[in-house]
Amino acid sequence: MGKVIAVSSGKGGTGKTTTVAAVASCLAALGYKTLCVDFDTGLRNLDLSLCMADFAVADFMDVLSGDMALIDACHECPRIKNLFFLAAPTDYGPDDLSVGAVKRMFDETRDEFDYCLVDCPAGIGTGFRLALINADMAIIVTNGELPAMRDAQQAADVCREIGVGEIRLLLNRVKLKNFKHMRATIDDIINSVGAQLLGVVREDEAIFLSLHENTPLILYRKRRAAYDFLDVARRIEGREIPLHLWR
Ligand code: ADP
Ligand code: MG
Repeated sequence: MGKVIAVSSGKGGTGKTTTVAAVASCLAALGYKTLCVDFDTGLRNLDLSLCMADFAVADFMDVLSGDMALIDACHECPRIKNLFFLAAPTDYGPDDLSVGAVKRMFDETRDEFDYCLVDCPAGIGTGFRLALINADMAIIVTNGELPAMRDAQQAADVCREIGVGEIRLLLNRVKLKNFKHMRATIDDIINSVGAQLLGVVREDEAIFLSLHENTPLILYRKRRAAYDFLDVARRIEGREIPLHLWR
């Protein structure tokens, strides 16, 4: 039985899409059949982070409407084995989606895949709630800046209200030179969001390079963020991995 993991933040630009693409790639590389769903109907760009721009002919609306079977609407990543992508529709918004059909689609992902990572839209409105409605776990991505922390707290509150079983925090774009100062801040963030830490991902120009060289991040093997996201994937599969920020 697969696990549905919604990646959210409240605030835009904290690194949700980057996280979905990188963690899903790592889970696939670890041998799990993994799907990532772009649920950001307004500003979809998960295809870019997956280096799969212009691949998608079908999108998840074709599944919700019953026109296509889930597996037929998913696109296999040509460069990472076990990794699949389901695109967001461009011409429909969250208000056009049926709650029952969304729930059924995520139930089906549990039969077909080991993991399904959902790229949530920013904000805590309808699209965000729908993305979480059938999730086993929510990862709240924040960057430690005050507005992002406040929004993360609100996103976590909504996750609790919806009844998501497991809520974890991912701190992204940490700069090593600020780390001494950040240690105190990490505790503050954990306390204010009220969720256990799943990982810390360092600021890394490899993410920019990956996008512009159209090469998946995990293929930049010796880069900081690639290591950090792999640690996150290993914690998701249940291993105890300490924080290795000095590496
Ligand atoms: P969101 O989906 O939350 O809006 P994105 O994943 O699109 O955020 O990331 C926003 C921007 O930050 C992108 O330009 C991305 O390349 C950059 N970014 C994300 N994480 C990191 C990181 N760890 N180091 C450097 N740049 C990053
Ligand atoms: Mg995004």
